[in-house]
Amino acid sequence: MLNIIKAYAVKNLCYIAAQKMTPQGIVVHSTGANNPNLKRYVDAVDEVGVNQYGNHWNTATPGGRKVCVHAFIGYDKNKQIRVAEILPLNICCWGVGKGKKGSYNTGPAYIQFEICEDGLNDKTYYQKAFAVAAEYCAQLCREHNISIDNIVGHCEAYKKGFGSNHGDPEHWMKKFGETMDDFRKRVSEILKTNEGKKENKEETVTVNASIEKGDLVSIASNATYYNGKSVPSWVKNQNWYVSNTPSGDRVVIDKNENGTNSICSPIHKKYLTVVKKAKVSATANTESKPVVSDCPYRVKITADCLYIRKGAGTNTAKVGSITDKGVYTIVEEKTGVGATKWGKLKSGAGWISLDYVRKI
Ligand SMILES: [Zn+2]
Repeated sequence: MLNIIKAYAVKNLCYIAAQKMTPQGIVVHSTGANNPNLKRYVDAVDEVGVNQYGNHWNTATPGGRKVCVHAFIGYDKNKQIRVAEILPLNICCWGVGKGKKGSYNTGPAYIQFEICEDGLNDKTYYQKAFAVAAEYCAQLCREHNISIDNIVGHCEAYKKGFGSNHGDPEHWMKKFGETMDDFRKRVSEILKTNEGKKENKEETVTVNASIEKGDLVSIASNATYYNGKSVPSWVKNQNWYVSNTPSGDRVVIDKNENGTNSICSPIHKKYLTVVKKAKVSATANTESKPVVSDCPYRVKITADCLYIRKGAGTNTAKVGSITDKGVYTIVEEKTGVGATKWGKLKSGAGWISLDYVRKI
């Protein structure tokens, strides 16, 4: 799994326009500038480091242009190549520009990301960056049901009539003898391998699942009872409920699935597979709860850097941070892990801990 940085460019006009979309495909770009560091484009100090020039894209019009993509791929502050999403994937970006037939920005709307270019001579960086890009595309295809054929480079988008005339990222790929076809092949291979892994994993989980009283189990075809006697096939052909709390490997099965038989027979647990759990195992209470309050109200941030989270709790993802000690409006309060109370930002960017604010 990719460890994706989420740092929405909440000040970018594109983020503010928030035109809704359902992704139909993916456009791969590369930046066209020699700077492989995410901090050049992404405002997420903790993850990518400080942009000393302040020219990242969390600003109304980066470089004076109305532009924004969904994500960048490049070095984080630890020189790991990672994906940083700066727009939610359900709103249109301003990426590929317009072509003869339209634009993949809006119709049909594509998820678009930039791979940060370096000097275009370092094969290792090129390979790693495109490997992460392929992994990211595979994940997007899976999560948004996107066909691999709908992954295009900016240059291809132009040729199809849905983008402006640019050569990225193939001008870079060409240097290492690759094309977008090679890239799509790679994504398809990742998807195939992941499918395989998923199947294996599910199998292991079922076999190793602990058996508890009340679980419905099926019996292996080679099973014998605990005393070594063989299990008749009319028993093996049905599912049974576990009637005791198993001690060690000895499990007693009693009623069959439709309640017509009762056999009360001990059997070794290695022959049993859980078909249905008696109950969903209790999870820690990390759920956040709404609080009655006098929202909306305004607060001044007292911390130098305060994370914005997706939900009301430190158990939800970081989606950004506030570093300006500014004044913000809270529109909703909730309790949740990691803070006395959480407040929802009016901008919709997410939730902040109210332990680091002063009501004004
Ligand atoms: Zn481009």
